Parts: sequence; structure tokens; C-alpha cells
Amino acid sequence: MLVSEIFFSIQGESSYSGLACVFVRLAGCNLACTWCDTPYARDDLGASEMSPDGVVDEVERYGCGLVEITGGEPLVQEETPGLAAALADRGLEVLVESNGSVPIGGLDERVVRILDIKCPSSGHAGSFLIENLDSVRPVDEVKFVMAGREDYDFAVRFMEEYLCGRTGNVLFAPVTPELDPALLASWILRDSLTVRLQLQMHKYIWPERGGDGL
Ligand code: SF4
Repeated sequence: MLVSEIFFSIQGESSYSGLACVFVRLAGCNLACTWCDTPYARDDLGASEMSPDGVVDEVERYGCGLVEITGGEPLVQEETPGLAAALADRGLEVLVESNGSVPIGGLDERVVRILDIKCPSSGHAGSFLIENLDSVRPVDEVKFVMAGREDYDFAVRFMEEYLCGRTGNVLFAPVTPELDPALLASWILRDSLTVRLQLQMHKYIWPERGGDGL
């Protein structure tokens, strides 16, 4: 597998935020989002070739019960579902974050899927595979990263037309500094949305390192 980095940090996003977590960042992505915060992981430059077993061994070295496989887009590598299952076999809680533009149905049932549905300002609205909704369960999470009102309206429409309550774990995350979190909060409150406002906790803890942990 092509691995961009493996590191141990505080989970800064999702409803798991605040927990210690090992991150496996796989290299390669099928999109090129405007707001991409990991451009270095979009291709294999600087990536290391590792076997799935080698990745599992490296993750276990940290002695942490939570692991997230992310990218790039982790599901562009065909070994990813097998890696996720192998980590779950070791008793770890496994999160996979995907942009949802590639099929997620091959992931093990024990794996929590976190889907980052692209809004218009990303340049990839419409990239989400609607058939992936069949694989979204109540334990899974759906995230919208938004830079303004057009993105917010897109997310609300998507929730109403497609998500239809498949999961209650819906995350609204502002792009900073483009969208003031206070403004996003006011929209959420005015519309009485049952969503979680998500700020990237790691960027508050380690602002000088761009949010990278250990
Ligand atoms: S899907 Fe993620 S990694 Fe790929 S370009 Fe978009 S933000 Fe970057």
C-alpha cells in the first residue's frame, strides 16, 4: 500500500474528537478540492510502500484502541478494505474517512464510515455516489465542509433529499477563515438543525504545526 504517513494524535474531528487516535494517511486521491488541507497526500510523491501487515504492526506500536484510515482518498487503494478489517480483527475501533465518490460497500461491518460530502465551493459538488447511501448506518457519520451560504444550503438540501435520517451523526464544519464559525452557528440555530458544529480541535491545540500532533 502507498502510505503518506502514520502518526499518533488527538482526533480533531467527528464525534470522536478529543480522543487519542492513530492516523493512517494513505496516498492518492481521485479529487482535487479547493480547500484540500492535505495536498501532499494527493499523489504518491514522498509516500512509502508498506504491506497491510506492516501497517497493522506500526499502528499497534502505539497501543491505542482507536485508528482512523484517511487520505487522500483511502478507498482508491484496493487493499484498504482488507487493512480496515485486519485492524478490526486486532480489536481496534476503526474509522475510515472517505470523500464518498468511490464505493464504500466493501468495508467491513465493524468499520465506522465517515463520509466527507463535497459542497459546491470544493469544486466537486455532485461527486458523491448516491448508491453509497445504502451503506450508511446509524453509527456512521456524514460531514459537510462549508465556505459560505451556498455550501450550507447545499448541505441542508442534501440532508433533506438524500440522507433522510439514515444517520444522526451529521457534522457541519466551516472552512476557516472563509466562514466565521459564529455565523455558521447562527444559521444552525435559526434553522434548528440537529447537526454537530465541528471545529478542528487539533488546530487549536497545535496551531504552530498546522494542526499536526506528535
Ligand atoms: S478528497 Fe480530501 S484529500 Fe482529496 S483533494 Fe479533496 S480534501 Fe484533498
